[in-house]
Amino acid sequence: MSLFDKFSTLQQTRQALLQGGVSPFHLTVEKILSPTEAIMNGCHTILVGSNNYLGLTFHPECIQAGRQALEQEGTGTTGSRMANGSFAAHGHLEQAIADFYGLPHAIVFSTGYQANLGILSTLAGSGDIILMDADSHASIYDGCRLGGAEIIRFKHNDVSDMEKRLRRLGDRSARTLIVVEGIYSMLGDRAPLADMVGVKKQYGATMVVDEAHSLGILGKNGRGLVEEVGAEQDVDCIVGTFSKSLGSTGGFAVSHHSLFDMIRYASRPYIFTASPCPSVVATTTAALRVVRQHPELQRQLWDNANRLYNGLKTSGYSLGAEVGPVIAAMIPTKELALAMWQGLLENGIYVNLMIPPATPNGECLLRCSVSAAHTEKQLVHIDRTFQNLKEKFLP
Ligand code: PMP
Repeated sequence: MSLFDKFSTLQQTRQALLQGGVSPFHLTVEKILSPTEAIMNGCHTILVGSNNYLGLTFHPECIQAGRQALEQEGTGTTGSRMANGSFAAHGHLEQAIADFYGLPHAIVFSTGYQANLGILSTLAGSGDIILMDADSHASIYDGCRLGGAEIIRFKHNDVSDMEKRLRRLGDRSARTLIVVEGIYSMLGDRAPLADMVGVKKQYGATMVVDEAHSLGILGKNGRGLVEEVGAEQDVDCIVGTFSKSLGSTGGFAVSHHSLFDMIRYASRPYIFTASPCPSVVATTTAALRVVRQHPELQRQLWDNANRLYNGLKTSGYSLGAEVGPVIAAMIPTKELALAMWQGLLENGIYVNLMIPPATPNGECLLRCSVSAAHTEKQLVHIDRTFQNLKEKFLP
């Protein structure tokens, strides 16, 4: 039995599910045409699963900034900020994020995944406790494990379960880090943050909120769920990613704590990896500026999200509880979900097929992510196709 033998079970499971047809796990974007269109599987396809919430990947200001940085600063940084030094643009981006949140400290990471690894593993280590929502993203799970803290999970979005577990910790609640997300990536529901913050304060715990899917989307200024519920002074740290609404790559963390900056000197996922390359830093900084200058993008996203959510609901789909940029249709079985996913693709629509173990409660999902850049015509086509597939597969 070699180390590779275990993968044959995985291979068999995948083959049994696929049995011909296009594989959702091997699909290639043959040519990207715009924030919402690509050639996939040889066909013109509308992208409804790319998390490009504000449609900024082709924004002229971002492209121009990236091009200029590429020409002036080269293709890469070839090392970490600790070893090679920071480029001035890394500091400018951190300042821009801190300004955006109105908070004094910001740290940029090379990806959102690493932001969670870097913050969670450094804040909570051996002897500390992490109290996390059971439906957290994989990067949160991995970040919690990396630091060696004791991990306790509470039922998804269940404030009383969270409170019960904090209470049981007694004095140790003061050494507890609570981790939740703004908008959850699979079903698009939100943390009941105002109530959670109340409990957190009562027990003297620390709280991190991952706003990966809510930056630029919730809150009057796009500062996420924390802004929307007015908890900016009560949450200890916000983490997020540049890879969704900002159309770039990278991650960040912001905080009002005076010692926050020290995390840089203790966080292995910050220290031991190459810093973001100049063009990425430049496109991200430009995208943040665009978000601030164009609040109409957020409004357009919400118009589109309401439209798609209501359309799918009218067709009879079971959806996540809340309207938002993530709209997931729950499909009874893996086989049906795959057949419907293939049906969407044949009609020129790409969504995410999400199946266990990547999903909460073993759900099979056709997960859509809505963009401000989706047009009326595209939304009509998406809506009608979902309606036809519902009649065909789930009468
Ligand atoms: N947190 C959440 C909630 C996410 O959904 C994701 C990405 N899917 C990440 C963090 C990681 O972000 P990145 O893609 O920048 O690594």
